[in-house]
Amino acid sequence: MKRAVCVCSGGIDSTVAATIAARAGYELYILHVSYGQRAEAREREAVNKIAARLNASELRFVELGFLKDLGGSALTDQGVAVPTGEEVHLDERETPSTWVPCRNLVLLAIASAYAESIRADSIFVGFNAEEAKSYPDNSSEFVSRYNMVLPEAVAYSAIPPRVIAPLVDMHKPEIIKKGIEVKAPLELTYSCYIGGEKHCGRCESCVHRIRGFRMAGVADPTEYELF
Ligand SMILES: [Zn+2]
Repeated sequence: MKRAVCVCSGGIDSTVAATIAARAGYELYILHVSYGQRAEAREREAVNKIAARLNASELRFVELGFLKDLGGSALTDQGVAVPTGEEVHLDERETPSTWVPCRNLVLLAIASAYAESIRADSIFVGFNAEEAKSYPDNSSEFVSRYNMVLPEAVAYSAIPPRVIAPLVDMHKPEIIKKGIEVKAPLELTYSCYIGGEKHCGRCESCVHRIRGFRMAGVADPTEYELF
């Protein structure tokens, strides 16, 4: 059976990507990275349930606390406010306060090491066009260039894994529709940056989630504090 490392945050995008891998017949090795984000406890809870639902062969948690120590992000630094919906401007090329410096490059390096060690031929990620507007490390350009360097990063005897980003050209409504099509467990996902028991409904990520479900014309199965 083909093996795939699935990088999973517990949110919608990575859960849909992991489900696509499962439906394509891959044996799943799910990797969740803790980098000091505020919502880590709730993300872990979500990933545990998602891994069980998708019959993952393994679930690994990796601690990257040094990213928090480097500072500079609203997701990891309690001194920086998390932006709310009113402050979200989707088309801006400014650096958002939620940017974690080089997070996805670090994350893919770890996923690649995991993939090489278990001889997985693919690494599935939830990178997508909506995130790529604000975060360059979600773009198809980033994925294709990373795939170019990967063969030079593994052992001579290894078959280099490839990063597969099945949602890379999609925005949230399309991702949600795709998730329903492949029967992704969207009801188990957690998107909020704040990390409360329920989704806050106000932060940038919640706003994207709410808008995505609304535009997809689908009921959001999660509960919000706000409503
Ligand atoms: Zn929120």
